[in-house]
Amino acid sequence: MDHNISILKKQLNHPKRIVIITHVKPDGDALGTSLALAFFLKQQGHVVQVVIPTEHPNFLSWLPGADAVINREDFTEETLLEQVGRIDLLFCVDCSTVKRLGQLKFLVERSDLFKVIIDHHIEPEDFADLLFWNVKAAASAEILFSLFEALGQVDSMHLDMATCLYVGLITDTNSFKNSNTTPKTHYIAAKLIACGVDIVTTHRLIYDNKSLNRLHFFSFAISQRLVVLPEFHAAYFVIQKEDYKRYDLQMGDTEGLVDYALTLRGILLGAVLKEKDDAIDLSLRSVGDIPANLIAKKYFHGGGHRNAAGGFSKLSLTETVDLFEKILKNTELQH
Ligand code: 5GP
Ligand code: MN
Repeated sequence: MDHNISILKKQLNHPKRIVIITHVKPDGDALGTSLALAFFLKQQGHVVQVVIPTEHPNFLSWLPGADAVINREDFTEETLLEQVGRIDLLFCVDCSTVKRLGQLKFLVERSDLFKVIIDHHIEPEDFADLLFWNVKAAASAEILFSLFEALGQVDSMHLDMATCLYVGLITDTNSFKNSNTTPKTHYIAAKLIACGVDIVTTHRLIYDNKSLNRLHFFSFAISQRLVVLPEFHAAYFVIQKEDYKRYDLQMGDTEGLVDYALTLRGILLGAVLKEKDDAIDLSLRSVGDIPANLIAKKYFHGGGHRNAAGGFSKLSLTETVDLFEKILKNTELQH
């Protein structure tokens, strides 16, 4: 770490043009950590642009600095490069696999850029010049916080930076209740709160900021779209394309639904299968040792963490449901 810090310090010792990228479907940690890093680098005199490969959910739009983020989907490769101009340094946040960068992967494939990864996902790929990686960190926000600590930046941390990091922590730990939460997570939260983070407002903006439509959708999904398989300790939702239309669902509106599956007594594996235009998206959550990430990797071209993972299927919705049930029968979930 110390060696990495001194390399980073050297990279940042004169003003540079820096681009920060993160994974497709950016979540609170991906966007929050990217924005906190952007604030820090700007404070240090660098020119910084955060670029996301696909749109982020609406409930993150209020994050300080989110309005200056640009979306790869609004550009071609050429117009994006025109927009950002010369790049000296590339940060890849909350992502260490090229595939998860979607249409931004051409940037990490450029050999002329110095690349830094800040991430906590398993099995990072070897494309960076500098790797700040810790699989035990609950969120990439934790790793960035430790980096700020090593750079002596914590006591002077701007409130916007602290808020962005706090959002990374709460979204990746499900408000400090997932198994990835450690004493360090709480230590960092304490430090961020000491910087002035308004925890009530932040939690309300993230979790209690829903439209009535979305609440009605959850009610509908729980009553009409939930399949419970007590014998497999599993429960899953199947969301059809027409449901999106019926409830006028916006980006991020299905977020949190999967957690309702795990609120059922005895349920250890929860899933949401979402019918999209070109694929079936899968969100998986598990309790204890059940490896959601291995299921996502083996059967759904995805991955993630042991208790929170995702992927997709190119089969039809019914075929995907059949496959999912077959997987449940073949895993060790039955008693
Ligand atoms: P969610 O269910 O919230 O979309 O995703 C939960 C976690 O699973 C994410 O934080 C991410 O780590 C992982 N994940 C989701 N989708 C994918 C995917 O397509 N590929 C990989 N490798 N991980 C994914
Ligand atoms: Mn993360």
